[in-house]
Amino acid sequence: MKTRVSLQACKSYEKNLVKEAIDKSLSDLGGLERFFQPGETIFLKVNLLMARKPEEVTTTHPLVVEVLAEALIAYGCTVIIGDSPGGPFNLSILKRVYRETGMEGVARRTGATLNEEIGRFEQKNPDGHILKSLTLAKMLKQADHVVSVCKLKTHGMTKMTGATKNLFGCVPGALKAEYHFKMPDVYDFSDALIDICQGVKPTLSVMDAIVGMEGEGPSSGTPKAIGAVLASASPYHMDMVASRIMGLTENDVPMLKRMVDRKICAEGMTDIEILGEPLETVVQEEFEVPEITNVSFGRDYPKWIRKAAFALLQPKPIYHHELCIGCRICEINCPPKVITMVNHRPVADLDACIRCFCCAELCPEKAISVYRPPLMKLISKL
Ligand code: SF4
Ligand code: SF4
Repeated sequence: MKTRVSLQACKSYEKNLVKEAIDKSLSDLGGLERFFQPGETIFLKVNLLMARKPEEVTTTHPLVVEVLAEALIAYGCTVIIGDSPGGPFNLSILKRVYRETGMEGVARRTGATLNEEIGRFEQKNPDGHILKSLTLAKMLKQADHVVSVCKLKTHGMTKMTGATKNLFGCVPGALKAEYHFKMPDVYDFSDALIDICQGVKPTLSVMDAIVGMEGEGPSSGTPKAIGAVLASASPYHMDMVASRIMGLTENDVPMLKRMVDRKICAEGMTDIEILGEPLETVVQEEFEVPEITNVSFGRDYPKWIRKAAFALLQPKPIYHHELCIGCRICEINCPPKVITMVNHRPVADLDACIRCFCCAELCPEKAISVYRPPLMKLISKL
């Protein structure tokens, strides 16, 4: 039996349009009753990467969260909204993020609760390929179900972020940097993302692809009007469909490739039934996606070849000191701690940099860009 992914048109963030699209999506999948029982508590794991306004398209749009929360509450469920944003995981940062991203207003209008649990817990993950045990944010423990309510964006390291990558936010605070440090290779990191998703086991996934992000995502890109809402019981299959909207396939996105290798999804989406709109109507003819920023040279090559290839091909972070406000977020969140502040401006030891680009992802001022050597650009177009 094929896995269903609902794809509904939604041209703008007008509440009646968003509600119509989400209602149709849920109905395509069998209604809320297929997933939840009245009286249960549902955790809406939204994408709150940082304290940005909804129109900056870095975070899940509050109207999508609001409509979903209203539907669940009307059905008789209790709703908690939360995420562990990039950087330190504490209450003062969380409150600022909730305020800026519009989640505070969603909670006020719907009666949902904003998560304030910042503890962590350990969980065995025997089916994980890389992560046999997980450290997860305790916020998840408060609920009977997790729903991944994600945003469709490009991503400098993983190329795209959707429902699966959204659950990396279930790893508490700065521990995310440790995961990057331990798994600098994009395929290892992709396996870890799948492991985390398998450990969290979201019951349902809903994607805000009304306006996504193209270019230097997940935080420095530009808004891209797509006009769609997606939903599925499977975050993996939903991401497969979302990749097509961006003009990508599993061969372009390491995380999707690993889903196919691990037999979670079939190559060419032959195991997916798309309900609602035909996929062609939302596929973007031009969607600017970043070239790969993490080049894997294979451990079988001699060290000198890997070193030479690294120098020629590997991208690097560039710091625009004129835009920098000296907040130290990049320094604090650099997994291998290779950034030092000199005169309140970051300087990185690029020999020790693992090219995770957490610094560029988390910089609130877009003061860090990714330089890609011309040779690498050329190769990635072949
Ligand atoms: S580069 Fe960005 S993150 Fe780093 S200190 Fe400057 S403003 Fe903060
Ligand atoms: S300098 Fe930036 S890209 Fe390099 S390891 Fe640190 S956070 Fe990652």
